[in-house]
Amino acid sequence: MRAMRIEGVPASAGYAEGPLFDLDRPPAAYAGKATATEEKTSLQAAIGTAVIRLAAMAEAADSDAAGILEFHIAMLEDDALSGPAFASIASGQTADVAWREALDGEIAGYEASDQDYFRARATDLRDIRDQVLRILTEDVDSAAPSGAILCGEDIAPTRFLETDWSHGGGIALKAGSTASHVAMLARSRGVPMVVGLREPLADLAGMALLDAEHGSIVLAPSPAEIGTFRQSSASFAARQGVARRFLARPAVTKAGTAVRVRVNIADPSDVDGIDIATCDGVGLMRTEFLFGKNLPDEETQYRAYRKVLEWAGEKPVTIRTVDAGGDKPVPGFTVEEGNPFLGLRGIRLSLARLDIFRVQIRALLRAAPHGNLRVMFPMIATADEYGRAAALFAEEQAALAARGVIHKMPPLGIMVEVPSVAIAPEAFAGVAFFSIGSNDLTQYVMAAARDNAAVAHLNSVRHPAVLRLIGSVTAFGRENGIPVGLCGDAGGDPAAIPSLLGAGLRDLSVAPAQLAMAKAAIADVSV
Ligand code: PEP
Ligand code: MG
Repeated sequence: MRAMRIEGVPASAGYAEGPLFDLDRPPAAYAGKATATEEKTSLQAAIGTAVIRLAAMAEAADSDAAGILEFHIAMLEDDALSGPAFASIASGQTADVAWREALDGEIAGYEASDQDYFRARATDLRDIRDQVLRILTEDVDSAAPSGAILCGEDIAPTRFLETDWSHGGGIALKAGSTASHVAMLARSRGVPMVVGLREPLADLAGMALLDAEHGSIVLAPSPAEIGTFRQSSASFAARQGVARRFLARPAVTKAGTAVRVRVNIADPSDVDGIDIATCDGVGLMRTEFLFGKNLPDEETQYRAYRKVLEWAGEKPVTIRTVDAGGDKPVPGFTVEEGNPFLGLRGIRLSLARLDIFRVQIRALLRAAPHGNLRVMFPMIATADEYGRAAALFAEEQAALAARGVIHKMPPLGIMVEVPSVAIAPEAFAGVAFFSIGSNDLTQYVMAAARDNAAVAHLNSVRHPAVLRLIGSVTAFGRENGIPVGLCGDAGGDPAAIPSLLGAGLRDLSVAPAQLAMAKAAIADVSV
C-alpha cells in the first residue's frame, strides 16, 4: 500500500504511532437459540450485563464520564427502547437482529435531524446498540490492542473509557467534533485525537502515524515520513517537558506583564489532582455536571461548593450557576427544542425554573463564608436577566438571614458569551466582573456551531470579529473598573494566547491539563 496522508481537525494535541484498529468492523456472528423464549432470555441477559458493566465503569469514572454512563444506563433501562426488540423476538426474530433493527430504527430518526443536539443522541444510541451486540455475540476480540490508533466514523464514549491508554494510542475519526464528550475526555487524559478526516480511511491494515497537534494521519508511512514524525513527536514531548517547568511559577510575559491563570473545573473532585500553588484560583466551575441523572439537593450542592472553596483558601473561586441546555441536556430540567443553542439554556432556563434556581442560590450563599467565592451567570443577553438573578440572590439572602443561617453575599458577575453583551457592555456597568466565554461567543459571532466538525474551520477565536469584540469588552472593563477574564477553551490554546493578550486580557482560565502549556505560551508573548 502507498503512503497516504489524510488531513483533519486536531481535537486533543499529541502524537501516536501504532497499528490501526477499525472501530466500524462488523461484529462477530451470533449463535441463534432454539426457541423465542431463549432468545428473549438471551437479550434480557445481554442488556443486564451491559448495565452492570456501565455501572462499574461509572463507579470508576470522573463526573463528566459518569454522567454519560448514567445516561446510557437510563436508556438501557427504558422499556420504550427495548420493547420493539422483544416484540420482534416474540414474532420469531433472533435476539441480535431484533435488537439491531429496533435500535437502527431509533438511530435513523435521530440521524435525520438537522439539529446537532439530536444527532449527538444518535451516537449514544449506536454506543448502546453495539455494546449489547458485542455481549450477545461474545465478541472477545472487540477490545483494541494497547497502543493502537482507533479509526472509524465516530467513537462511543464507553469505547473510549474501556480502552487501555497507558501504552499510548490515539483516535482518528471521519465525523466527530472537537466539542464532543469524547474530545473533552481525550484532552483531560492527554489522548491524541483528530476529527473530521477529509477522506475515508480505505484500508485499515498496518500501522499509521497520528499527528494530533496539527491534525493529520499518515497510513503506510515511508521511512522518511516516520523519521520526520518522530522528530515532531519528540519536539512536542520536549515542549511539554519545558512547559512543566513553568507550572510552579506565576505566569509572566516576556515584557514582564503578569497574567493570572486560573483553572476550569466541573466536579469538585477535579481539584484533587491540582496543587493550588500552581494556579490563581478557579475561573470557572461548571455546575451543570452536578446536575446528572437527578437534580442535586441544596445539601449536595453546598458540600460540593464548600469543598472547592476550602481547597482554594484565599484564592478566588468563580462558580457559574447552572448552564443547562444547548449541548448540555439535564433530564427533568432542560426542554427539547428545535434549536437548543438559541433556546432555553443557561440563565434563561434558571429564570424559568425558579424552584431549581433558588436551591442553587441558597447553596451558594451558604458556601460563600468558606472561601473567596464569586458567582457568575451564564448566557446573559440583557441587563434585565442579570437584574432578576441578582434580585433572587438578595431575596434568598434575606430569607437565610431571617432564619439565622450562616451565609455571605458573593460578588455577582456575568459570562460575556452572547454577542449582545459584548457589543453593548454599557448596560452592565453594575456587575462585579465579566468572564468571556469564548466557546459560545465565537459560535454565535461566526454562526458556526461549536460541536459541528463541518464548520470547525469557521469556529476561530482568532477571527478579527471575535478579537475585536473581546478587545472592546476588556477596554470597557478597564475604563469602568470592572475586572475582565476569559474562561473559554481558547485561553488554554497556545496558538490563541498571543492574540488574547494582544486584545488586552490579563486573566485566563484553562483546563487543568493545559495550565503548564498556557503559562509557557504566555512567557513567549511580548506584550
Ligand atoms: C464558553 O462558552 O466559552 C464557556 C466557558 O462556557 P461553556 O463552554 O460551558 O458553554
Ligand atoms: Mg458557554
